[in-house]
Amino acid sequence: NGVAPREQELIARRQKLLGPAYRLFYANPVHVVRGEGVWLYDPDGNAYLDVYNNVASVGHCHPHVVAALSRQAAVLNTHTRYLNDTILDYAEKLLGYFPPELSHVMFTCTGSEANDLAYRAARSFTGGTGMIVTRLAYHGVTVAISEMSPSLGDGITLGAHVRTVPAPDLYRASGQDVGEAFGRAVREAIADMVAHGIRPAALLVDTIFSSDGVFSDPPGFLQPAVAAIREAGGLFIADEVQPGFGRTGEAMWGFMRHGLVPDMVTMGKPMGNGHPIAAMVAKPEILDRFGERTRYFNTFGGNPVSCAVGQAVLEVIEGEGILENARDVGAYLREGLRGLAQRHEVIGDVRGAGLFIGVELVRDRATREPDGESTAKLVNGLRERRILISAAGPHANVLKIRPPLVFQREHADRFLEGVDAVLGEIG
Ligand code: PMP
Repeated sequence: NGVAPREQELIARRQKLLGPAYRLFYANPVHVVRGEGVWLYDPDGNAYLDVYNNVASVGHCHPHVVAALSRQAAVLNTHTRYLNDTILDYAEKLLGYFPPELSHVMFTCTGSEANDLAYRAARSFTGGTGMIVTRLAYHGVTVAISEMSPSLGDGITLGAHVRTVPAPDLYRASGQDVGEAFGRAVREAIADMVAHGIRPAALLVDTIFSSDGVFSDPPGFLQPAVAAIREAGGLFIADEVQPGFGRTGEAMWGFMRHGLVPDMVTMGKPMGNGHPIAAMVAKPEILDRFGERTRYFNTFGGNPVSCAVGQAVLEVIEGEGILENARDVGAYLREGLRGLAQRHEVIGDVRGAGLFIGVELVRDRATREPDGESTAKLVNGLRERRILISAAGPHANVLKIRPPLVFQREHADRFLEGVDAVLGEIG
């Protein structure tokens, strides 16, 4: 299988020490020891182009972020039950990127915890428990959130209070208005909940529908669904763990593409560029209700080191024109991919916003039959050329392209050459 002895040994140690629930990427797993910008390096010094890591969003080991981390770590790290400016400076700065209605923030360490907290707050505010998510959603690892993460597969039983709706897939919409169709599905899910005596708490969606297969268009398509959940007394929670912090190029948050203001927003991954910091932003009336009845303390969430890191990430996003770059290079990359589609029949659709791009591979453009097999070959073929990428969607036939946002046109060219070459080989 092409795996070298040194890496075979690491695989064996992982299995022995970590058990079977961990999964590696690629038939020939990649061994990395260092990262810088858009590059990862193996122990022999070979460079891999990272076209997939949306966590190290302003670039692996960005010096400004690393300096902020080590500076604060050398001065003070503690929790949120003392007075300290760092958390307040960061909270102020972060909330400045949101519409004024969203004026409170609570800090966690992971996106899962942020979603878990949002779910608790939605329950306390609405008095309901019912949740609506998309058919292949992923929202996290806690018991409550894994039970609303159908992409985890058959091993997970969805909660009795959870309903799934098909993702808003423009490519397969056959001329239907995707927003209307999505809204209708949400209404049906609500009706079914109510028929079973379940009161709706919230509609929770990843606003770029990452694990469902990347759905970005047409802008605004979320509006009917959000209207439906609100009419039923439920809330709209935007999960920005994937699209947040400028990835979509046009705005800091994916929900902005849809011209609406969520009731709560959760975020994580790129927030600390690799350091574990995450958060939930909410309308104050929701957190008033939550805070009246319970206290919240998260030992590590919102600690000064994490907040200093978060602040530094925002400084880089502003100082280095990260959104503009995501917009420019994202458009360039989509154009390049559409060019490749003219020569490679297997490319059925190119979609996305900024540097969050989905490329759907199909056996036949007329029937749109998914081609998971070619997608796996392409992903592994690119890996052999030291280009890192992965796939998503119900048939694992959608390339998920989301490089660090410092990705340049020259990196896009290298990626496009790789895709062209591998597709040529696999025919
Ligand atoms: N929501 C979405 C949309 C995600 O993609 C993820 C992580 N893949 C999470 C939540 C959970 O975040 P974390 O892994 O930080 O708990």
